[in-house]
Amino acid sequence: MNLFKRLKEDVRYIHGLNSCINCGTCTAICPAASFFDYDPREIADQLQVEDEKILEGLLKSDKIWFCGQCMSCKTRCPRSNTPGLLILALRNLSIETGLYMHSSRGRQMYALKKLIGETILARGYCVHADDVDTYLFPELGPIWNWIRKYSEEIYNKFGNSYNRKGSGVLRKISDETLHELNEIFSITGTSGRFNQIEEDAYGHAEKTHIDIDQSIWNEYFWNIYENPEYDEN
Ligand code: SF4
Ligand code: SF4
Repeated sequence: MNLFKRLKEDVRYIHGLNSCINCGTCTAICPAASFFDYDPREIADQLQVEDEKILEGLLKSDKIWFCGQCMSCKTRCPRSNTPGLLILALRNLSIETGLYMHSSRGRQMYALKKLIGETILARGYCVHADDVDTYLFPELGPIWNWIRKYSEEIYNKFGNSYNRKGSGVLRKISDETLHELNEIFSITGTSGRFNQIEEDAYGHAEKTHIDIDQSIWNEYFWNIYENPEYDEN
């Protein structure tokens, strides 16, 4: 498998890397670099040498999953590179080649697919207030549980169309729009990657003897969500 050949087929790679002069400006302004073992300068520099082994290492690593896609690097780079776009191309290739399963952060894509990916396709929202388990966000305190209990009454006070046809946040997204969204996901290959993530998770769950099923809150989900350093051995 020629990984670089495949990476170069991604338009985000072509647009994202001209030539890196290693100035470090992207790293200096990158919010993810402040919190994680992540350095966009290093990624751009490693990619421009076009070494298959280095690329394979990146595709297997946690490093490509920390970028928050803020695109601050795009506006600052003196060579018009965009490390944030390079990361997107790397993530796609990592999933398509299955190499993301070597990384605990990569394996967490299953949780993202369950929580966000499936919500987009089913409801048209990345996150829908009715679907999020408040247990996942203890920092919000008990208020959210209270809001959920009285959601019908509370959300409608803001003049929107909560869970029904109309305008405003949390309105019901029409079937026609949801159909279009599903088509976009299918044409862009996202649905295919979702299927692969699901398939890989089942394989990993079997190997590690952890229960998994179609529900969101299955045992495998909690394992990779709460314990990203989980050792598969
Ligand atoms: S800002 Fe641009 S040139 Fe400088 S290290 Fe980052 S990618 Fe390379
Ligand atoms: S897009 Fe990613 S790499 Fe670029 S500044 Fe934002 S977090 Fe950092």
